[in-house]
Amino acid sequence: MRKRMIAGNWKMNKTYGEGVELAQGLADELKDGTGDVDVVVCPPAVDLKGVAEVIEQTQAPFGLGAQNVYYEESGAYTGETAPNMLEAVGADYCIIGHSERRGYFGETDEDVNKKAKVLMAHGIVPISCCGESLEVREAGKHVEFVVDQIKKDTEGLEITDPSKYVIAYEPIWAIGTGKTATADDAQEVIGAIRATLVEIFGKETADGIRILYGGSAKPNNVAGFLEKEDVDGALVGGASLKADSFAAMVKAAM
Ligand code: PEP
Repeated sequence: MRKRMIAGNWKMNKTYGEGVELAQGLADELKDGTGDVDVVVCPPAVDLKGVAEVIEQTQAPFGLGAQNVYYEESGAYTGETAPNMLEAVGADYCIIGHSERRGYFGETDEDVNKKAKVLMAHGIVPISCCGESLEVREAGKHVEFVVDQIKKDTEGLEITDPSKYVIAYEPIWAIGTGKTATADDAQEVIGAIRATLVEIFGKETADGIRILYGGSAKPNNVAGFLEKEDVDGALVGGASLKADSFAAMVKAAM
């Protein structure tokens, strides 16, 4: 049985002090635990250490994720963060292939695939994002487009523990826009992702991989997505920036 997951992507928000404060607020909101739901917060890289300390000091029931990684181990890659650096500050998860990284920074499926491999080699769980633009959706090619991304992003991955590889389906037109896909829209694509994973990895592995929905998910709509057969949780941007709204989404998933 797949454990639900609610993950917060803080994007480029929250200074170090603000991040620590948000993590403390969330630890307080979730002090009674998160039941059977895995909760993850993904602060900016420079906030990771501070949030890790809050998690440790308060025994907070959430994991720590980064928002990006580079696929080389070390060297002359100015501005990048190596996987062992994430490991050293206690990151358990890392988002890869977010549409903002693909769109603004030219991240390709090949990069996403290399990042997944290097993270898994370091014991960090990738949260690998995929999703189509409005143009692709309006052309009716969204399923085909996302299935192609999944094939490229997972090429050659060896998944021995399916709970340690997570996919987030995020239609680009629904991110930060207030326009949500319907729960049926999410199930259509996420169901196709699951079927593709069955073809690639076999049913047992595919059935253990969590697939999240992301795109203007909020406390008042998250439950609708979670009712769908293949939707295992949410990757949350805007609504993860306040402890009470993010905690409400976790509680809706419990
Ligand atoms: C995201 O950036 O992953 C996201 C889903 O953002 P929002 O919830 O703000 O649409």
